[in-house]
Order: sequence, then C-alpha cells, then structure tokens
Amino acid sequence: MKYIKIIEEIEKLKREIKNFDIGKSVLGESIVCFHLGNTDGKQIVVEGGIHAREYISTLFILEAINNLKNFKLNGGIYFIPMMNPDGIRLVLDGVNFIKDEKLKSFLLLVNESEDFSQWKANINGVDLNVNYDVFWGQGAQNTKKLSKANFIGYYPNSEIENINFLKFVEQNKIDGSLSFHSKGEVIYYGFKMSGKRLKEERKIVKRLCELNGYLPIKTKNSTGGLSDYLSYYYKIPAFTIELGNDFLKHPISEKYLMDIYDKNKFVISTFLNCL
Ligand SMILES: [Zn+2]
Repeated sequence: MKYIKIIEEIEKLKREIKNFDIGKSVLGESIVCFHLGNTDGKQIVVEGGIHAREYISTLFILEAINNLKNFKLNGGIYFIPMMNPDGIRLVLDGVNFIKDEKLKSFLLLVNESEDFSQWKANINGVDLNVNYDVFWGQGAQNTKKLSKANFIGYYPNSEIENINFLKFVEQNKIDGSLSFHSKGEVIYYGFKMSGKRLKEERKIVKRLCELNGYLPIKTKNSTGGLSDYLSYYYKIPAFTIELGNDFLKHPISEKYLMDIYDKNKFVISTFLNCL
C-alpha cells in the first residue's frame, strides 16, 4: 500500500462528511478531523495513526467512519484518523519522497537502515505517544536519544502534531477518548487512577472488552501518552486500544483490516453510549 491510497480515501470522505484540520504536521501535511452525529450531547474523540508503523489504526478509523456515517448517533464523534501523516508516509513510501537531502540523511542516520517499515516516530524522530507533558520521561520503555521508536523528545509537548491535538481538546467539549494503536488485542485503562473513578472506568472497559474479546490492562510503566494526558488532566475516560493479534508483525497488513474491524465494529458507538 502507498500513502496516496490513504490520502485518496480521506479526500473522498471530506467531500461527504463535515471536517476540518486540527493543524499541520512537521512537513505541512493536513491532520484532518471528521465529525459525525450531533454537536449537542456527549462528544468523544477517536484517534489513530499516532505511531507510524501502526497505520492499520488509520485504516480502521476510515472504515469506522464509512460504517457509522449513516448511523443515528446519540451525541457526536470526532475522528482523527491520521495523527502522524509524515511518519506514516515514511513507512509506506520509504525515505525517497523526502527531497531535502539534510532531512533524508538525518532519517537514515536515526533509522540505521534504509528499511523504514518499523518506524514509529514522527519525522523529527520523536515518539508522539511518549511526548505529552504527563509524567514525561518516566515510562519503562522511554529512550532519551533520537530513535525510530520510544524517544520522548527534548522537552514535553515539543511536537507540532501533539500541540495541534492539545489545542483541539482545549477548543472542543470532549467527554471521552479512544486512541487506536496496534498490536496485542488489549485495552489500556485507568492511568494513575484509584477509588471511584477507577471503578467507573473498569465498568466501561469491561463492556468494551465484552464486544471485542480484548484483554483489559490497567496502565502502568508507561507515561507521556495521549490517553494518559486526557485521563490525568481532563479527568475523562480515555482508553488505548491495541488492534490486532500480537502474533502479527508490524506493520499489520491491510488484509487483516476486515477481521480487526469486525471484532471492533461496535466499540466506538458503545463507548459513546456508556458516557
Ligand atoms: Zn502505538
């Protein structure tokens, strides 16, 4: 699959569904947000494609939009299918689309290979899901040097893709969030939570796991993530859902998309109804 296929699909949806850009990536690519349903009532945000090699989550969200667009929703859903367009293009098209020779050499140096299929970061070599300013740098797998994966950045909230997202949540009323990644068939919940809130969050995650058969896991040892940030500062239910069986290799081939979609097809609308 080439990057242009994803762009074509997004452009097609843009012609029929209300949308706006939450901002641009480092290389100036649009980070598109679609909205379905009503603007009154509960609102959730659904994100994918944060980690480049996990672009199956982008395809999953595009499939979800196509399926939910004619569905009567109780409230509204914001979908941001591709939070890291530059990284995803790097995985899908390789480094040769980069015309700037300096940037190209930088990427080859950081990646230590011409094969970019395992790239997880944005185009600056920062892992967007460990860069948020929430217990930043305290995760077990964090690295403090440039890398294709797990580099926390030079300071928290340093990356434009994350800054855009934080602006988006600041400007819109959001009651819950689902962040799609791959892989492992688990749902992470309950970041730094205890007591009544944890009990409430467990109730929702249990409901979602009944739908997709995934395993609920209380978040620990990971910090700086989007769900962590929303849980901690906005005090809203925010789950990270790892799509696809752990036996599959990164990046998960699109031939598994429909299997993954079938398992998860009721997760988004059910989550909205739980709030
Ligand atoms: Zn991920």
